[in-house]
Amino acid sequence: MLKKLKKQVLDANLALVRDGLAMFTWGNASGIDRERGLVVIKPSGVDYDKLTTDDLAVVTLDGEQVEGDLRPSSDTPTHLELYKAFGNIGGVVHTHSMWSVIFAQCGRDIPALGTTHADCFYGDIPCTDKMTAEQIKGEYEKETGLAIIRTFKDRGINPDEIPGANVFSHGPFSWGVSPEKAAYNAAVMEFCAKAAAMTLMLGNDVQPIMQELLDRHYLRKHGKNAYYGQD
Ligand SMILES: [Zn+2]
Repeated sequence: MLKKLKKQVLDANLALVRDGLAMFTWGNASGIDRERGLVVIKPSGVDYDKLTTDDLAVVTLDGEQVEGDLRPSSDTPTHLELYKAFGNIGGVVHTHSMWSVIFAQCGRDIPALGTTHADCFYGDIPCTDKMTAEQIKGEYEKETGLAIIRTFKDRGINPDEIPGANVFSHGPFSWGVSPEKAAYNAAVMEFCAKAAAMTLMLGNDVQPIMQELLDRHYLRKHGKNAYYGQD
């Protein structure tokens, strides 16, 4: 079942290692079949170099496992909340990549400072509020997803335009129309976090990217008048 999606999810997980976003077993990628309402996700605690499509877990949007012998990633409830709230996404990725984690540990948004950021993210990449003690002691992974969703709702951010967020004191989640795109967005987010951190360290009076430049770069790649690339 879901052979093609499993291959996509395996490739997205391996991309996290290839792109230097995941050490050890940290990090996970998933993908959804919207028609069947099933999510394919990395199993918990399995080394990337041993991972095969047969190891991947298949769960319903309620978290019930319907395929796979290994337990799904402990972060599965976070992925499921994002799929339920963000209706256009097809893949979710979570890592503890260094530069994004630094912004998460500072509780700061990753500011849009240049065109690399603008090509992929239409504005600052938000950091959630601190989670409460009750949320942490309760259904923690589900609450993590709800913290991201609340941030987008409260701030009026469109998750299709800003396909990533940091969770306070934790690290980055990203998403996209496919598992591949979610992994790509995770890598770009990490690049932007590093570039922004260094810019803030080195620069005097660093300014956000000009709105016109943000618009130009984001909109030439996304939306109805996009003209960048071959498809
Ligand atoms: Zn984590």
